[in-house]
Amino acid sequence: MPKKEKKLKKEPIQSPKGMHDILPQYQDIWNRVRVACQEISEYYNFKRIETPILEYEELFSKTSGESSEIVTKQMFNVLTPGKDKLVLRPEGTASIARSYIQHGLSQLGSPVKLYMEGPMFRYEQPQSGRFRSFHQFDLEVISSDDDSVYDAQIILIFLKILEQLKIKNASVSINSIGCKNCRPEYRKDLINFYKSKKNKICDDCKNRLETNPLRLLDCKEEICQDLKKSAPIIVDRLCYQCKTHFKDTLEYLDELKIPYNMDHMLVRGLDYYTKTVFEVFAEGATFALGGGGRYDYLIESIGGKNTPAVGCAIGLERVIEIIKLQNIQYKPKHENNVFLIAIGNAAKKKSLGLIEKLRESNVEVFESLGKDSFNSQMKSANKMASPLALIFGQKEAHEESVIIKDMKSGAQETIPILKIADAIKKRLSQL
Ligand SMILES: [Zn+2]
Ligand SMILES: [Zn+2]
Repeated sequence: MPKKEKKLKKEPIQSPKGMHDILPQYQDIWNRVRVACQEISEYYNFKRIETPILEYEELFSKTSGESSEIVTKQMFNVLTPGKDKLVLRPEGTASIARSYIQHGLSQLGSPVKLYMEGPMFRYEQPQSGRFRSFHQFDLEVISSDDDSVYDAQIILIFLKILEQLKIKNASVSINSIGCKNCRPEYRKDLINFYKSKKNKICDDCKNRLETNPLRLLDCKEEICQDLKKSAPIIVDRLCYQCKTHFKDTLEYLDELKIPYNMDHMLVRGLDYYTKTVFEVFAEGATFALGGGGRYDYLIESIGGKNTPAVGCAIGLERVIEIIKLQNIQYKPKHENNVFLIAIGNAAKKKSLGLIEKLRESNVEVFESLGKDSFNSQMKSANKMASPLALIFGQKEAHEESVIIKDMKSGAQETIPILKIADAIKKRLSQL
């Protein structure tokens, strides 16, 4: 019965849509990106914080905005036996702010500089640079005032991380979206402008006009582009404080010789932003590598004291995509290794002990001890591109010696085990 047979054949289970594995061969590059983020942040005195991947749904509806796409369409809800309304975190800033209030981190002084790295989850259509499970490196400066020096420092650190990773031609797009004093006025202007032209905008924008008019500005639909060009611009409507704050931020960037593009359409997808918003791009990127801005009311909105803050999120998958696109090569981390080949039982028995001796001397050893034949172990050594092989046979095990073989020239020499680490180091340094 062919029908039944077909049923029995098991389809291998795949990872969930829009979610991906980070395979061993990509771990080096991931580590490199993570280390660059951490090293540079720690230089600027940022401290690591880790928050749970699950949070109460309320945290995000209160901060991202009830009408934001993140809350209305992209949340992963989690069913718990206790009927808690939990969600997989869609972003990190709200969690950090929650933790800052919950644990009284204001006691640490001002500013409090925090960084966090980990997976975020958004239920959206997977496409280039967009996943349902993705990793972000978050930087936040929580300060007693809204000093623009930190807006500039956050942008500087973002760019320095890209520079350390050798990413070419990074650029910053920047805008100010005002505060609770000047934004409502602008919002009104924007609604008035679009109201009479409702039939010229896409369906999503018709909705946005009711719920989140600022998002009209970053609509990517073709039909909405023309109108956007003549829409009122927010920087023209900023109050005195916001104008000064924006001017100061730009002056800090000028002083650092950081080039930027003023992008009047830049508003970002989260409601909690105030004043500065920015995104960072690089050569060849069709998407922002990350972005951020100031969020002066967020902490207050979830029950904390009035505490201004500014931060950014770096999309790690996107940074890695750009590293691949720009074909950036790093010096391999494991190039100073040796490959141990053990032949026969006596040598195999002693081989783990031999590796331990080498580990204590900081010599990195690869092996395929599960393979018995010389030829198959030699094949593995070639595959790992080890510059040196150690050949450990019956005779050597008995005499407490090892043969060092230069994989390129084929030259061999027998060395007593006691001197093997030094001999390896000497040869590796001469490569
Ligand atoms: Zn303002
Ligand atoms: Zn639109």
